[in-house]
Amino acid sequence: MNTKCLIIGSGPAGYTAAIYASRANLSPLLIEGPQPGGQLTTTSTVENFPGYPDGVDGNQMMADLRTQALRFGAEMRTGLVKSVDFSQRPFTVTVSGIDEDVKADSVIICTGAAARYLGLPDEQKYMGMGVSACAVCDGFFYRKKRVAVVGGGDTACEEALYLASIAERVFMIVRKDHLRASKVMQQRVLENPKITVLFNTNTVGLFGDEVLQGAHLVEYRGTDREQHIDIEIDGFFLAIGHQPNSAIFAPFVDTDAQGFIKVRPHSQATSVEGVFAAGDVCDPVFQQAIVAAGSGCRAALEAERFLLNAE
Ligand code: NDP
Repeated sequence: MNTKCLIIGSGPAGYTAAIYASRANLSPLLIEGPQPGGQLTTTSTVENFPGYPDGVDGNQMMADLRTQALRFGAEMRTGLVKSVDFSQRPFTVTVSGIDEDVKADSVIICTGAAARYLGLPDEQKYMGMGVSACAVCDGFFYRKKRVAVVGGGDTACEEALYLASIAERVFMIVRKDHLRASKVMQQRVLENPKITVLFNTNTVGLFGDEVLQGAHLVEYRGTDREQHIDIEIDGFFLAIGHQPNSAIFAPFVDTDAQGFIKVRPHSQATSVEGVFAAGDVCDPVFQQAIVAAGSGCRAALEAERFLLNAE
């Protein structure tokens, strides 16, 4: 199977790249992973994407982007990329669900990022039995129950507010003495009577039998002073940032210490000529849908230019 432009990933970056690449007559092939639409399909209302004064449902927005890419002729296939070989052109990519290798003259990597976990052994033990990294996906199970959200960024605030509309009580476990989130989100959290923010606090363990029943916390109260607290909770939600889905590409393209794919200044070009990256997989700073979409556009325009020059 041959394509001029292979787009891997189906978040705002991937679909936008597909829209631009289709309109440039590159007939792109887009590989949608197991979660078509990416992280935005696990969020509730997207309030900050320009053009939607009343906000837009994340799933709806991604469905609209997909429809738009299909309208211009992008081909979509579902599968997981199993291996890549970027050592020579055309590049070779093997995808589960596609019997033959995909040979691509250019590649745009838009595989996004995945939720980070604290690394506690108990997280694995209670995964799906109280531990989650997606309030919108799993919040329903905690109606009138007690839950905790770890993190102090915008995601944590968003998750806490969402859970507060369902659960009886929400703890926010914040390791510093302040929230990192935007002021508007901070205000909404601090004013919500159902949310208790535990500052200077870390989670050191979880407890329960078959299902989660609580968390062991440590609150730091100045140098050498710490207080151990146990809270009874039914749900424990991680919102401590994301790690880029770049491992499979790392043997070929340069990545930074955290695994984000490095792109050249003012460009989406990676260290391999003809391979571009867009969206959260190469963005350690902004991680916004609008930025991802913009970088997908840039990557497609650069791929078009690359292919023209390579002819
Ligand atoms: P952030 O990196 O902004 O925040 C991560 C939070 O997790 C921080 O409070 C951090 O603490 C905490 N944290 C990290 N590691 C640990 C740990 N090991 N133990 C305890 N706490 C930890 O990630 P987000 O996912 O919140 O946001 C990513 C980007 O997406 C940001 O740019 C954000 O603004 C944006 N975003 C915007 C939204 C919106 O505008 N509606 C919604 C969601 C995200 P510390 O502060 O101490 O480092």
